[in-house]
Amino acid sequence: MTTILIVEDEPAIVELLRATLEAERYTIRETGSAETAWRMIEEAQPDLLLLDWMLPGQSGLALAKRLRQQTRTKTLPIIMVTARAEEADKVAGLETWVDDYITKPFSPRELKARVKAVLRRLTPESSDAPLQAGLLVLDPVSHRVHCDGKAMLLGPLEFRLLHFFMARPDRVFTRAQLLDTVWGDDAEIEERTVDVLVRRLRQVLATHHLDAMLETVRGSGYRWNPEATK
Ligand code: CA
Repeated sequence: MTTILIVEDEPAIVELLRATLEAERYTIRETGSAETAWRMIEEAQPDLLLLDWMLPGQSGLALAKRLRQQTRTKTLPIIMVTARAEEADKVAGLETWVDDYITKPFSPRELKARVKAVLRRLTPESSDAPLQAGLLVLDPVSHRVHCDGKAMLLGPLEFRLLHFFMARPDRVFTRAQLLDTVWGDDAEIEERTVDVLVRRLRQVLATHHLDAMLETVRGSGYRWNPEATK
């Protein structure tokens, strides 16, 4: 499941963005204010932010700068939505703060292409490189996990969950997000099942004294913290 947060105050543009991206099976969340977006991102981080520049209150650019200064959000993919007339002269400096930008008016085809390109470039799991957290190493190609050279035995669901977490350290995911990630969008499974899977993964991690890395975030969900030690 790929979640895109749309931050845009013009209803017609929101509608266009939403319809285009939902047709591509992305999960959409939306808000018209940068302040609300900040809170939503703190709660559960999306995979991509589509951010309008001109917003009431704090501007989209100010939000982008703020996100880039935080450890947890500094690599969050951002596509800025700009209006040609207002901002054409300032667009040149944008690359410092956002991954790409799209100028209104844009076609659904252009939007889809930009979103796909940014996600492909920046989504950690699209890489074949081994992921590491302390002594723990996960090889996405061979599906093997080692700790300090010792093999870790994981079932396919545990592996998928661990891969997802290790590719996205320091981010909080809700049970619903993890459910979609591990079992797929259409699965009819209770959120409690996520807790059961997390418990199983923790048991395996505990045999290598690594279970503290998989943190419970009260009221929200779970987070992978590679810095955690016991
Ligand atoms: Ca606007």
